[in-house]
Amino acid sequence: MLPRTSRVVVQEGPRQLAMRELPIPPIDDDSAILRIEACGICGSDVEQYTGTIPVPLPVIPGHEPLGVIAAIGDRAAKRWRVDVGDRVAVEAPIPCGHCRSCLLGRYHVCRGRGAMFAHGYVGLDREPGLWGGYADYMYLDPCSIVHKMRADLPASLAVMFNPLGAGFRWAVEIPKTGPGDTVLILGPGQRGLASVIAARAAGAERIIVTGLERDAAKLALAKELGADATIDVEQEDVARRVRELTDGHGADVVIEVSSYATAPVAASLHYVAMGGRIVLAGVKGFKPVPDFVSDLIVVKEARILGAFGVTAPAYDAAIRLIESGRVPLERMHTHDFELADAERAIQTLGGEIAGESSIHSCLVPDAG
Ligand SMILES: [Zn+2]
Ligand SMILES: [Zn+2]
Repeated sequence: MLPRTSRVVVQEGPRQLAMRELPIPPIDDDSAILRIEACGICGSDVEQYTGTIPVPLPVIPGHEPLGVIAAIGDRAAKRWRVDVGDRVAVEAPIPCGHCRSCLLGRYHVCRGRGAMFAHGYVGLDREPGLWGGYADYMYLDPCSIVHKMRADLPASLAVMFNPLGAGFRWAVEIPKTGPGDTVLILGPGQRGLASVIAARAAGAERIIVTGLERDAAKLALAKELGADATIDVEQEDVARRVRELTDGHGADVVIEVSSYATAPVAASLHYVAMGGRIVLAGVKGFKPVPDFVSDLIVVKEARILGAFGVTAPAYDAAIRLIESGRVPLERMHTHDFELADAERAIQTLGGEIAGESSIHSCLVPDAG
């Protein structure tokens, strides 16, 4: 039986979160209610919290939800092939299905229903309101996208479908990484480590990860997860090390997932091999990139590819890998937080809590 109300975390302004109790809306034939088991905390949640990413307020944050179907309309059950009691991973976008982006297969950038119509980004005043994953229960729209998952894995592990999906799309699908490729990953955060796992699963020959001195533990973990070499960018000459590690060729694929810094974007042109691919996935606050030598793209015939978000094929690959149990993903998981600790969870990922270092963390509301 569904309770009448759900606890939700509401963001009311920059750095303003409050716990509320809101009614769980009725559903129709095409929608559903999800009982949240876990919701991943994302780097963009930190930016949303601080006000760097503008969102309609008030809003229930949380765009990486995993949960169990608590109630579902008959037609939705047929269309999605799930029923009450099934565990599903929910994609963030709620695409319209009809706009040009949707028709081109880029449904994750659909604007057919207004700016960023996605779980965690739709304002609370838009009916029926429970759009975000920082809650006990969430509304599933007729256009929400769900992926059924095995229910016997810990929720904090299963919810990694999201960062791991990014790894598969950014480090494999977009640059078409395959056997024989050397992959250089700039940045050892959640997405960088997910890129290591995905590139390894795709058969990459050599994987190299860069990081700062303070990232030593993450770089060690990168090796555990399949990296062959790591580079401390503060202590070593990265270009020289990349040349040494690649017999002078450079990297076939460079994945740029560092946060904010623009220098790695310019530097990636020096690391990439002839005919190589550079994937830019970390946003830089729309700053220009100094020292960007475009001639290097020309003479190397390199390709620069943008990556924004994840779509279904990469999520499917991530879910299959999680369910296979072949990779010690739990090594990436650092924190579970109660719903009431959402603010602390965001601040921990944002590095604002002294002595705490997060790689992957999630909210576990445990609605029971
Ligand atoms: Zn996210
Ligand atoms: Zn659309």
